[in-house]
Amino acid sequence: MSQNDVADTTPSQRLEELLQPDDRVEELSSSDGEDEGEYETEEEEPDTKAALPRNGKKTIPSLFCEPPIIRDKLHTKSSKAQDAVAETVRRYMSGEEREINDPNSHNIPYLQRAKHIRFMRKSLNTYPSAYQQADASRPWMIYWALAGLAHMGEDVEEHCDSAIETFTPLQNPDGGFGGGHGQYSHVAATYAATLSLAIVGGLEMINRKTMWSWLGSIKQPDGGFAMAVDGEIDIRGAYCSMTIISLLNLPLELPLDCPARKAGLHSFTDKLGEWVGRCQTYEGGIGSTPENEAHGAYAFCGLACLSLLDAPHKSVTHYLDTDRLLHWLTSRQPAPEGGFSGRTNKLVDACYSHWVGGCWAILDAALLKPGQDPKSPPQLWNREALVRYTLCCSQTKTGGLRDKPGTRQDGYHTNYSLAGLSAAQNHWAYVEDSNSPDAGLDGDSEAAYKWHPRPATDEEREAWAFELNDTVGFVHPVFVIPPEAVERSKEQFKGVVGFKDATTTLPRR
Ligand SMILES: [Zn+2]
Repeated sequence: MSQNDVADTTPSQRLEELLQPDDRVEELSSSDGEDEGEYETEEEEPDTKAALPRNGKKTIPSLFCEPPIIRDKLHTKSSKAQDAVAETVRRYMSGEEREINDPNSHNIPYLQRAKHIRFMRKSLNTYPSAYQQADASRPWMIYWALAGLAHMGEDVEEHCDSAIETFTPLQNPDGGFGGGHGQYSHVAATYAATLSLAIVGGLEMINRKTMWSWLGSIKQPDGGFAMAVDGEIDIRGAYCSMTIISLLNLPLELPLDCPARKAGLHSFTDKLGEWVGRCQTYEGGIGSTPENEAHGAYAFCGLACLSLLDAPHKSVTHYLDTDRLLHWLTSRQPAPEGGFSGRTNKLVDACYSHWVGGCWAILDAALLKPGQDPKSPPQLWNREALVRYTLCCSQTKTGGLRDKPGTRQDGYHTNYSLAGLSAAQNHWAYVEDSNSPDAGLDGDSEAAYKWHPRPATDEEREAWAFELNDTVGFVHPVFVIPPEAVERSKEQFKGVVGFKDATTTLPRR
């Protein structure tokens, strides 16, 4: 997903131009091959059970050391670009070329934790005046940094006061957040601000009543959501709005004066599942709107939105053709790359480690058969491949993660690469148990609070090519923040009905 899809291309391009020389990733040169020969590539194994060579390091499975088995025989601009990227990635995956000489026992680089933490901390600092063009992306930059730090196990609650100070002027009187001071309310900025405040424990800053009212103003009569009043209507609006409603435990009943209510709808969830279902394309993936091209980020938005409506095995299977979705999603992970592409005929890009990688936990839960143990879902994707792509190709030696070799690191790719790595390393199970301590929220937004994480076993770490030191924290499969932050917001708004400052009490959901 390009940043253009989430926020704004121009600011990210500006950031790239403005990075100081010592922040930049150095270009590869022949000197970067100083460790050639350390990696055992000539005795390749035909399967992923790599044997121990003499130096104690494991060989790299041939799947990641050889050119793609299936090549496009029609040579076009895009097929040539694909060949070039596959070859570059193959060299990084095999160890023929590498920027980071710090191999774990699987002969791939360790997670460069300290450097990534330093990079994310730096991105929370003040910026020079030239960054003003990125002002509308301020909530996103804060969210990427805080979430990235949290994924790495850092305590980010020390940033609570400064986050509240930053976000307080951004919540407009209408209830939504602008990207910067004086800017119109936009649900992408509101989503990023809400998640940031949830991570640091500052959600009390948000005026829930005006937020509820503003979200009502972007709910559409056809069931979808706009990104802003009179803004574009797409699936990001649906996912972001439902995430905010669920995290803040807002009433699902629509405000009386909103356009959708006047059109006959009563709830934020009315016609929403059907609208998301209409975004599934002939390919099986999900587009930004009905009749648009299938795209990895919109697939995640669609699946997560449906998971906010109800249990995935009910909502996802009801509104989507899961056979076709599965076919499209499994086609997103090429070899030798191992990472994900976002669309058909597109290149691997580490931000899809989350956008596509994050779909699997939801799809696993949706496809679980009655009576099947949620601890042993079907193996639908190659976790080892994504771990290898992240550690070999997405990490930079100066800290921060990137789209692919040859591109520069940034907060967006760092956060979503790490979230994807977490998806590859950990398990999530949706547990529907009315007696569980999770029960207690009112209404349908309870659905998102029934996810339970589990770390990989020793055997799984061995099979998926990472060590305990390479482990990233749990990332909630729907909210994309640490589960502790989700639990805290659930407790904070448990049993809250209506609004403290409301003149009338709203009906219970
Ligand atoms: Zn990307």
